[in-house]
Amino acid sequence: MALLGIDLGTSNSLAALWKEGQAQLVPNALGELLTPSAVSLDDDGSVLVGQAAKERLVSAPEQSVTGFKRFMGTDKSWTLAGRRFLPEELSALVLRKLREDAEAWLGESISEAVVSVPAYFNDSQRAATKRAGLLAGLKVERLINEPSAAALACRMHDPEGDNTAVVFDFGGGTLDVSVVESFENVISITAVCGDNRLGGSDFDHEIALRFCEKNQLFFEQLTPQERAALLRQAELCKRQLSSQKEVLLQVPNLDGSLSLNNQQLIDLCSPLFQRMATPLRRALADSRTPLEAVDSFILAGGSCKMPVVQGFLRHLLQRELDQPLSPDTVVALGAGVYSGIKERNPAIRDLVLTDLCPFTLGTGITSGEANGPLRLSPIIERNSVLPTSKTQNYYTISDMQSRLIVDVYQGEERLCKDNLKLGELEVPVPARPAGEEGVAVRFTYDLNGILEVETTVLSSGETWCKVFLGQGSDMSQEEAQKRLQELAALKIHPREREENRTLLAWAERLYAETLGPERERIAAMYDRFQTVLASQEDWRIHRARPDFALFLEQMESRLQGFGIFPSDPQHEEAWESMARSWTDEEQDNLEQEEDDRIASGRRRRGPGQGFIH
Ligand code: ADP
Ligand code: MG
Repeated sequence: MALLGIDLGTSNSLAALWKEGQAQLVPNALGELLTPSAVSLDDDGSVLVGQAAKERLVSAPEQSVTGFKRFMGTDKSWTLAGRRFLPEELSALVLRKLREDAEAWLGESISEAVVSVPAYFNDSQRAATKRAGLLAGLKVERLINEPSAAALACRMHDPEGDNTAVVFDFGGGTLDVSVVESFENVISITAVCGDNRLGGSDFDHEIALRFCEKNQLFFEQLTPQERAALLRQAELCKRQLSSQKEVLLQVPNLDGSLSLNNQQLIDLCSPLFQRMATPLRRALADSRTPLEAVDSFILAGGSCKMPVVQGFLRHLLQRELDQPLSPDTVVALGAGVYSGIKERNPAIRDLVLTDLCPFTLGTGITSGEANGPLRLSPIIERNSVLPTSKTQNYYTISDMQSRLIVDVYQGEERLCKDNLKLGELEVPVPARPAGEEGVAVRFTYDLNGILEVETTVLSSGETWCKVFLGQGSDMSQEEAQKRLQELAALKIHPREREENRTLLAWAERLYAETLGPERERIAAMYDRFQTVLASQEDWRIHRARPDFALFLEQMESRLQGFGIFPSDPQHEEAWESMARSWTDEEQDNLEQEEDDRIASGRRRRGPGQGFIH
């Protein structure tokens, strides 16, 4: 039974599986490796997933959604065509699409998967991802941290070198940095750090805001359709700046334009660059790795393809970056390799992948005042190697106190209320004067996200134990069944017609973006293609499709009309001047951060501090 490796991304998702002795990327029904993580409800109520849904973000924004991964594990919901969807249900639709496309490609059914998640995902986000898998008919055998997956793919590519690598994964909505040690057959992640609110879409947003500013428009006052069209063109410009020196941003139906080069992009987005440095610094500090000890940098995520991002990293790290694997696919490849390990494939069976606890687990303690806020007392610290087991003692604070409440929290905040509460355990203790009775609390956390909390009353040796299953176990069989049926009842767009539907969605978007004679031409071509589709004769459809696609392609490039300039992706001078203004600012920031830390009584940063300057 095949096991599917899946990179379930904020913007794009990919699948890979272990076949003929290597991890292979799986093309979708359109022959593409990347499937946009977008869902849309068609006019007839059927569900579209992928490129067609992405096109409809512009032509039918109310019926279409993307970026839902950012809300995994929360109760935010979207109503599309009168039906409410949770983020995990939208993710389930994407996973199901990947599964079905992979089944068609492989010619056998798939019921298990390894799914990658950002290293920074907390327990409820991981649980939601597992539920999404279940709802897509996939038992999620294991969640793997995205950076671990990327490191694994690179390791398979070059099994020779023992080394210390930093994985810099910069996608559409998240940035994750991790430090990875590979020695012989063991790959260990020694630190992870991330910013799950920073990604490529922030660049699109900055560009869109600049366009509005220059053309006296107010982003917030645009219609959802105009906003979507503007963001779409902004993203396109950003991508074109990866191979062109200068681009002109124009948006159909919006007056004005904005010319943009990479230098201007740097200026426009300088706060974003500054935020990119923080997780990098923290990860190195957490793993006590000096920058000089890093052998290689692994780039993952589409945003790493931006010359300005690479330039920034080159400058920050003072070294060249070269990597044979594409940032787009490296995580999915790693998930594919891991699925091979899970299947106990003899070729890679010997590889050991250790994992980390990406967050701190602890219990609440009073800060002294009677009704003061509860403070978090960490028991298992972030980035501990798994499995791990740690003990701490706690004592009563009032006379004749007869029970202790051991709350269990996850997170990095000082006050309990700002962290995620996983549950609690009540322990009866003999009533005695304050501080004379206490419990030893042991937290044991394993690779599958199972946390065992064991408390031992110090005077009597009596123990109380509770297991927190975490990761997706909070959905009962009945509930899973019920929700599966609900999702299954949704009409899914027929797979064999997907290519046609994607072309129609493309035409609908172009129609929405144009006016006058161009719009009429698009409408005429659209009707013609629909008439052919209505004939239901495969040979006619087959013949008409390339013509329709060519027409749309030509219309697209005409509408864009971007200026083409020779490429100059280096921008060394830009970085020089930027770095000059930064060195002082960065130092100030560092000092300020350290002051805040001391003022709030937090642990001082380890000896890694200031490795990056
Ligand atoms: P995620 O892991 O979040 O799904 P991806 O790794 O697919 O994200 O990256 C998506 C992001 O990469 C988007 O913001 C997209 O605009 C950006 N991107 C993709 N290709 C390029 C490119 N050639 N130049 C610049 N940005 C790109
Ligand atoms: Mg990604």
